[in-house]
Amino acid sequence: MPTTQTNKGNPLMIQSEIDALRGKVLTPRNHFIDGCTIPSNEGRTHDVLSPIDGQVLTQIAEGTPCDMDAAIASARAAFEDGRWARRAPSERKKILLKLADLIEKHALELAVLGVRDNGTEITMAMKAEPMSAAGTFRYYAEAIDKVYGQIAPTAENVLGLIHHAPVGVVGAIVPWNMPMMIGAWKLAPALAAGNSVVLKPAESASLTLLKLAELAVEAGIPEGVLNVVTGSGRVVGETLALSMDVDILVFTGSGATGRKLLEYSARSNLKRCYLELGGKSPNIVFKDVTDLAQAAKVSAAGIFRNSGQICVAASRLLVQADIHDDFVAELVENAEAMQVGDPLDLNNHIGAVHSLSELDANLEFVKKAQVEGAELQLGGDQILKDTGGYYMAPTVMTGVRSTDTLFRNEVFGPVLAVTPFETEEEAIQLANSTEYGLSAGVWTSNLSRAHRMVAGIRSGVVHVNTYGGSDLTVPLGGVKQSGNGHDKSLHALEKYSDLKTAWIQL
Ligand code: ADP
Repeated sequence: MPTTQTNKGNPLMIQSEIDALRGKVLTPRNHFIDGCTIPSNEGRTHDVLSPIDGQVLTQIAEGTPCDMDAAIASARAAFEDGRWARRAPSERKKILLKLADLIEKHALELAVLGVRDNGTEITMAMKAEPMSAAGTFRYYAEAIDKVYGQIAPTAENVLGLIHHAPVGVVGAIVPWNMPMMIGAWKLAPALAAGNSVVLKPAESASLTLLKLAELAVEAGIPEGVLNVVTGSGRVVGETLALSMDVDILVFTGSGATGRKLLEYSARSNLKRCYLELGGKSPNIVFKDVTDLAQAAKVSAAGIFRNSGQICVAASRLLVQADIHDDFVAELVENAEAMQVGDPLDLNNHIGAVHSLSELDANLEFVKKAQVEGAELQLGGDQILKDTGGYYMAPTVMTGVRSTDTLFRNEVFGPVLAVTPFETEEEAIQLANSTEYGLSAGVWTSNLSRAHRMVAGIRSGVVHVNTYGGSDLTVPLGGVKQSGNGHDKSLHALEKYSDLKTAWIQL
């Protein structure tokens, strides 16, 4: 490959520079507590495997309850003495803007590090991880000195002031897909609002967030305000969620863990829990779609990019019966053209599945769907086994019925379930017949139908004549069992502050 090859969409990415970074030996990583890197108190570590080749990448600290308690104590002390919370919003803004600059300065290094850790194709990772995280810190930095309190319309002899007060210590638990993007969605508004944070990354994707915490201190965020503890969810995650000293929990991950967090909250201090859980998002194509070819191309990308490991992936295709065969053929053609392989090669469109256990689970879903009567149109198998990494072909299954496992359960892999429908009412009914409600897509040239679909589909976002596009100005959150609360937009700031009333007799 020529060393000058760049990715058109992002001139920062040059293959030779990516290749230089991919070989970098990574020293074992510790927790980041109170501004210092600290090993596990029992000295234990665990291996981090790269999904690119299945080889050991490095080790990270295997956190203990004691490590987590130390991080929480550090965050609590930082909050109580006001070293961050009592700074003027304009000062916090300056520091967070500096952090955004530092993330951007280290963008390629962070993107490659993240890809080695979690397997996302670099073209997507660069945009969705460091660059998106930098943008998120900038957005909330710029917002925070424009948030005003209120004066209540009281009688003349009293003054009712409504303040926004930081909540205190925020516990943030994030998953392995897009850790920087999702992490920043939580850290940036939490820090901008003056809180201290303890972050628990996924055990298999902690490296970029540990680096982010170092950059935060370099930018000027005081020690103890942002702490990162690595290790298992069942040990350090549970300790964080059960702590009496953590005021709110913000989480992205599975429904099963979300349920546990609510339980831990009930068993401890009733801390507020904001949960962004899974999805099984319907992407609905009507026969009056304006541009079938474009819809098929975007729909393929909507499920297959990042090997389908995106919570809003368009994993259920509902297509009107009249165009079913044509649309599926076009979509399969697009999927076949998407090259799967080494996620650090700019030529590839789809990288690795995150882990062997995820890959096995994906393959199991395919087998089960076949047993239940679905037809395999494309893929369905592990590929590139000789690399030692975890790769799966884009998979398309037709004839999936609304009662089937593949229709109802989130795969979190490159597996598309296709179901035909006849009428608009049936499309809405099918769209709503899972326990999830995160994202949806509608393709139609009929404006009134588009509005009816937006109103009828129960989900946090409905895309019309596109899929997956978004920016920071709009909220992302689920309804039903996809969760509660919202990341992104000015609304996210509401989670990270309490309303506090001052009632003053004049
Ligand atoms: P995924 O299927 O995306 O791995 P999980 O819910 O298992 O979803 O993991 C998301 C995050 O939740 C990870 O950081 C993980 O370590 C953490 N986690 C898992 N189990 C628990 C638990 N019992 N308590 C707290 N955190 C947990």
